[in-house]
Amino acid sequence: MRLADRVCLITGAGSGIGRATALLFAHEGARVTVADLDPAGGAETVRQIREAGGAAHFVRVDVTAAEDVRAAVAEAVRAGGSGRLDVMFNNAGIGHVGAVEQTEEADWDRVIAVNVRGVFLGCKYAVLQMQAQGGGGCIINMSSSIATTGLAQRAAYTASKGAVLSLTRSMQVDCAPHGIRVNALMPGTIMTPFVEGYLRRSYAGREEEALAAIRRRQLTGELGRPEDVARAALFLASDESMFVMGAGLAVDGGLSAGKA
Ligand code: NAP
Repeated sequence: MRLADRVCLITGAGSGIGRATALLFAHEGARVTVADLDPAGGAETVRQIREAGGAAHFVRVDVTAAEDVRAAVAEAVRAGGSGRLDVMFNNAGIGHVGAVEQTEEADWDRVIAVNVRGVFLGCKYAVLQMQAQGGGGCIINMSSSIATTGLAQRAAYTASKGAVLSLTRSMQVDCAPHGIRVNALMPGTIMTPFVEGYLRRSYAGREEEALAAIRRRQLTGELGRPEDVARAALFLASDESMFVMGAGLAVDGGLSAGKA
């Protein structure tokens, strides 16, 4: 098992990529704290993990609230039983569609609050815990392929994911002396409720057409699956990536490599 007895906290684990990662980490022996705003989604992830024989529990968290995040880290450490937090995956995030001139200030603030402040708080309380336990640990932050390539109509979202990538690099420099590795994931388009909701809202009645256009962007000709990103997260969480530090790992079916 690649994560035997590792204590892992995953935000946004009640759905999509976070759920797939929680299931895979538990399958690899981790003790997983499933953190999410949505208690029903979180409970379902825990149910699936336990049904498969894994160890997990749920904690409700709004990643924009410092006290929630601090308490979630403390709860993960308590439930893990080793006095440690080994892996923090700051995965929770929200989308927004709009060019900069179309973006309401309140929408900008909300996207930055969840996607940037949420990651900042997860990093802060994870690093404090990892330092207190004598160092060591692994932090994974959820960025996106659009942090470096851009995409039409995604002003706030792109800015938020670029900030996550920059924060990750900056943190790695500060965290290295404590034996903490900090890396970012940069997925392309992954079929999750996040993308399904976007297609419904933006392309009502034309979802198939929009999906075909997204497929054409991919060198694979297909969208990614949550499990594709979960496997990359597993690599970053495991000792196999011991020499990978401050990286942004593309998991995008060739989207960032270029057009066919
Ligand atoms: P998802 O299926 O919508 O899952 C995200 C989860 O995060 C949901 O359970 C959501 O709860 C939760 N969440 C939202 N706001 C939260 C908050 N303030 N505090 C705690 N939890 C919160 O999305 P996904 O596609 O798996 O995306 C996961 C991450 O990957 C996001 O950061 C996203 O930006 C990133 N990403 C996704 C793609 C893609 O194509 N899917 C590509 C690149 C990057 P609710 O349902 O209650 O809102």
